[in-house]
Amino acid sequence: MKDFYNNIYAALGTLTPLRGDCGRACNKACCEGDKDGDGMYLFPFEEEMYTSLPSWASISETDFEYDKGKFAPLFSCDGVCDRNLRPLSCRIFPLTPYIAKDGELEVIVDPRANGMCPLSSLYVEDFEPDFVKAVEKVGKLLLENAETKKFLEAFSRILDDIKFI
Ligand code: SF4
Ligand code: SF4
Repeated sequence: MKDFYNNIYAALGTLTPLRGDCGRACNKACCEGDKDGDGMYLFPFEEEMYTSLPSWASISETDFEYDKGKFAPLFSCDGVCDRNLRPLSCRIFPLTPYIAKDGELEVIVDPRANGMCPLSSLYVEDFEPDFVKAVEKVGKLLLENAETKKFLEAFSRILDDIKFI
């Protein structure tokens, strides 16, 4: 599955949520949170991209069961990373592909960004259009594999719960 993720990472390339560096204003709040022991889910098989784990990262288990007996691992870091090695969840944040209850693929602002990321109050239309398109493409690519599709469906239901808290 390395090719699968290399292809997905390539769809995003060097695109960022806004034209400039959004981390300048917030001092990279999303990465600071990771430093405190939180982390980002790895998508199914994405762990294969970390056969040798960088010194600034760790991977642990979670209780997020996206399919029968299949649990999403959590990727945590020291708050600083080699951008080329950051996981997909970091590359797309604070947007995310999302499967609505009617099965439609959408791109939404990740509700986990609320209260932490200054961009969380923006509409999807306010983000860099090429970045939004790339996140949509990532969603389409994730739907091409049965397991990553299951993950995205289950993950979308978690986001629903957060949205309505
Ligand atoms: S995504 Fe949000 S929290 Fe992360 S660096 Fe950009 S503005 Fe800051
Ligand atoms: S891996 Fe990199 S982008 Fe992701 S939270 Fe850590 S420092 Fe931030």
